[in-house]
Amino acid sequence: MTAGDTTAHASTAAPAAPARDERLETIRPHLPREFAARLVEQITVGSHPQVVEVLAPLTGETIVDLPQSGPGDVRHAFEKARAAQSAWAARPVGERAAVLRRLHDLILDNTEHLLSLLQVETGKARLHAFDEVAVSAATARHYAHAAGGYLKARRRPGAIAFLTKTVEYRHPKGVVGVITPWNYPLALAAMDILPALVAGNGVVHKPDNQTALSGVYLRQLAVQAGLPAELWQIVTGDGPVTGPAVVDHADYVAFTGSTRTGRQVAQQAAGRLIGCSLELGGKNAMIVFDDADLDKTLAGALRACFTSAGQLCISIERMYIHHSIYDQFVERFVTEVKALKLGGRLDFGSDIGSLTNTRQLETVTQQVEDARIKGAKVLAGGRRRPDIGPLFYEPTVLTDVAPGMTLFAEETFGPVVSLYRFENEAEVLKAANDTRFGLSASIWTRDSKRATEAALRMHAGMVNINEAYGAAFGSVGAATGGMGDSGLGRRSGADGLWRYTEIQTVARQTLLPIAPSLGMSPARYTRSLGSALRILKALRMR
Ligand code: NAD
Repeated sequence: MTAGDTTAHASTAAPAAPARDERLETIRPHLPREFAARLVEQITVGSHPQVVEVLAPLTGETIVDLPQSGPGDVRHAFEKARAAQSAWAARPVGERAAVLRRLHDLILDNTEHLLSLLQVETGKARLHAFDEVAVSAATARHYAHAAGGYLKARRRPGAIAFLTKTVEYRHPKGVVGVITPWNYPLALAAMDILPALVAGNGVVHKPDNQTALSGVYLRQLAVQAGLPAELWQIVTGDGPVTGPAVVDHADYVAFTGSTRTGRQVAQQAAGRLIGCSLELGGKNAMIVFDDADLDKTLAGALRACFTSAGQLCISIERMYIHHSIYDQFVERFVTEVKALKLGGRLDFGSDIGSLTNTRQLETVTQQVEDARIKGAKVLAGGRRRPDIGPLFYEPTVLTDVAPGMTLFAEETFGPVVSLYRFENEAEVLKAANDTRFGLSASIWTRDSKRATEAALRMHAGMVNINEAYGAAFGSVGAATGGMGDSGLGRRSGADGLWRYTEIQTVARQTLLPIAPSLGMSPARYTRSLGSALRILKALRMR
C-alpha cells in the first residue's frame, strides 16, 4: 500500500495513523538514492561536512542526508562565483540570454522528474507542482528575450541641451546572494536567480534544507544549458547561521521568506550598505461581488485557498462575499471543499497534498483550535489526517472569525480560509485593506470597470481580477511583490532584473563648458544661463 487518496470531510477526531512502513516505497522509485547523491555533489561543502536528514513530507521517509555548508564554505562559494563572474559579465548579453533559452527547453523536457522531485520535497499535489515548472520556464523565456532591451544603454536628457550627451549604462552588481524558502523551491529560485545571471552576475544560492535538491536540479539544468558551473554556487545549512553568512559576503541580496526573517536580512544588508529585495508573507483577501460568475468564482476560490495546501505566499486566507449571494456561495463552496481529494501519490490523482513540515502543521492546528475555542465555526475540515500521511491537514473553512483570534490577522500559511459577509463596496475595501500585509488580492465581478476601480484601491502589490493568484504571479514580464509588511522591491519584469544592476551615468560635454567661458563675466553667464533655462521650460524640454 502507498500513501492513499481520500476525500476530506468534517469531524474533529483525526483518523489514526497507519503503521509507518505501510506508507514506504511511495517516494523511493521516483527519487533513487544515486540521483539524490549526484545532486548533493553540487553543493559547496568541505571534506567532512555535517549532514542533516531530510524527510519526505508525504511519508516521513528519508529523502537524503544533506551535507551542510559551514561559514568557510560560504566564503569559498563567493570566491568561486566572483572568479567566474567577470568573464561572464564580459560576454555579450545575447550569449547569456541563449543559455536561458536552452534552459527553458530543458526545464520542460524534464517536467516529470521535476514534478516528482517537487512532490517528494514539498508534499504538494502534482498539479500544483506544475505551476512551478511552468513559471520557471516562462521566466527563462521572458528574460532570454527581454534582457537585451532591459540592459541597453539609454540616452538621457543632458545638463545643457545639445551640448551634454548623457548616457546611462547598467553594470551587474557582482555576486548576488539569493535566499529561498521551502514552499516554491523551483519557481522562486528561477524567478530570483535567472535575471541575476542574465544581467551578468554570479549567484550564491541558499535554499532551505528541506527543498535544497529542487534548487540544485535547476542549477544542474542551467549548467547543461551552458552556464559556467562556477557561476551559480549552492550553499546549505541552518537558516539563522548560513543565511547571515550569505548576506555578509553578497553585493546584493534577494530574500524570500517570512516577514520576521526579512526584517533581519534588511537590517544586516543596511549595515553593509548593500541593497536587498524582500518577498515576504501575506494575509491575502478575495472579494466576490454580487455579479460574479459563481461557477468560475467557486473553482477559482478552491485554487486560491488550497493550492499547495495553502502554503503559498499569495494564497487567499480571507474571503469576502456579497450578502446577496453569501448563503448560496457558502453552501456550494463548503460542498466542493469537502469533496476535495487529499492524497500522497506521485500522480495527478489528488487535489491537495500534504503540509511540508511539522512546524507548519503545528501552526495550522494551533490557529484553527484557537479560533474554534474563541467562537469560530468550522464548516469543513479542521483536523489532521495522519491516516493519509504524517503532515496532512484537511482543507478548512471557517466563519465567525473575529479580532482576537490569531488567524484573524496573522498569516496561517496552510489550507484554511475565513469567510466574511459584506454589504457594500466601501465596507469591503476597508476590511480587505485592514492588514499590515499587502501582497496579493483577488476580485471577482463581471463588471470590468468596477473591478479595476476596486483593484486600484487595494493595498496589495498584485491584484488578480477573475483569477485566484496565477494571473498576476504568472505575468513574468510585470513587476510583482508586496506592499507594507509583505516586502520591499519587486521581482519579475524589468524591475526584477534592474535590482541586480548598478546604474552608471556617463555625460560628455561638447563645445562649451558648464562655466563662464569665451571671456564672459560671471554676472553675464548667470543671466544667460537663467534665460536659457526659461527657454528650455517654454520648449517643454525634459
Ligand atoms: P523563513 O524566513 O523561516 O525562511 C526563509 C529562508 O530564509 C530559508 O532559506 C531559511 O533557511 C532562511 N533564513 C532563516 N533565518 C535566516 C536569517 N536569520 N538570515 C537569512 N536567512 C535566513 O521562511 P519560511 O517559513 O521558510 O517560508 C515561509 C514564509 O515565506 C511565509 O511567510 C511566506 O508567506 C513567505 N513567502 C513569501 C513569498 C513571496 O514571494 N512574497 C514566496 C514564498 C514564501
